[in-house]
Amino acid sequence: MKISEILSNSKQFVSLEVVPPQRTMTRAELLDNIRPLMEFKPPYINVTNHRDEYIYVPQADGSYSRRLQRRSVSQTAVCASIMDEFKVEVVPHIICAGASREQLFYELSDFRYLGVENIMALRGDCLLGEKRFTPEPGGYSYASQLVADIRKEAATKDLCIGVGAYPEKHFEAPNLETDIARLKEKVEAGADYIITQMFFDNSLFYKFVELAREAGIEVPIIPGLKPITSYRQLTLLPEAFSINIPLELSSELEAHKDDKAACYEIGREWALMQTKDLLSHGVPAVHFYTMGKSDNIIGVIKECF
Ligand code: FAD
Repeated sequence: MKISEILSNSKQFVSLEVVPPQRTMTRAELLDNIRPLMEFKPPYINVTNHRDEYIYVPQADGSYSRRLQRRSVSQTAVCASIMDEFKVEVVPHIICAGASREQLFYELSDFRYLGVENIMALRGDCLLGEKRFTPEPGGYSYASQLVADIRKEAATKDLCIGVGAYPEKHFEAPNLETDIARLKEKVEAGADYIITQMFFDNSLFYKFVELAREAGIEVPIIPGLKPITSYRQLTLLPEAFSINIPLELSSELEAHKDDKAACYEIGREWALMQTKDLLSHGVPAVHFYTMGKSDNIIGVIKECF
């Protein structure tokens, strides 16, 4: 079933995202980690994708040889396992970074083969150490180009497509208004719905939705949340995702920085408060970034769905 149909049929629901695990994790361990979340009947599970990393190995002659390093299980294998075990829709993230147009369409063809009807179309990020995003030769510079091409091809044009958005603006965008104009281009290219980056201040999300609607974006917008689980995330999350942590939350975590259990509980309480408030504002779903941890999220959704 397409996410667009689920969005138009359903009452408010839980939307989940999992990250392909390290190769040391078994299939059973991955599925056992997801299993407790299935009790809340998520209609689909997003599966992220991460561009290949390369290491440079010194050679005897002083040169370096480039070697591909894949630490995680492939996204395709994870999608197939989840579909097989839980009979639920999966939404693979297709990222432009590090891939040519042909490679991306072969990926899409593999997902069609598995019976996948939904994807998220994303640009992806720079390689570590790179200053600016550089597309692969024959690849895409922006997610909107991928969306447009998916809609043009007979084999892919029926896919339901989600795209990403940033209530605090994408870090490369000069301002939120311009970023929203770019988001509109993705929707005009054929995106069916939007999932946002995580945020910790709901007022930013409501303002973002207002601006998006004023700009003429009419598709559903699903807020993305991540409960903070440790004091370290106070610096890690802003660094990795270019987002802000409100003073009230950061000072609470600072005050309990040496107490792991307290920090975990503060993060859970904050996410719970955000989720309740978003649901009361009529969002279609709340998307949780699990990042390999399900206990904290279960704690939140148990009280809200
Ligand atoms: P785009 O929509 O292409 O935008 C990128 C930047 O370019 C923005 O600043 C935009 O304003 C600007 N822009 C767009 N079009 C134009 C144009 N025509 N001219 C000039 N500027 C333009 N990353 C992963 O690697 N794997 C994942 O699985 C993954 N999942 C994600 C899930 C969600 C819900 C979100 C929100 C993000 C996810 N990301 C993932 C991160 C994402 O890949 C990065 O944030 C990336 O930097 C931007 O991707 P995008 O698709 O939003 O890019």
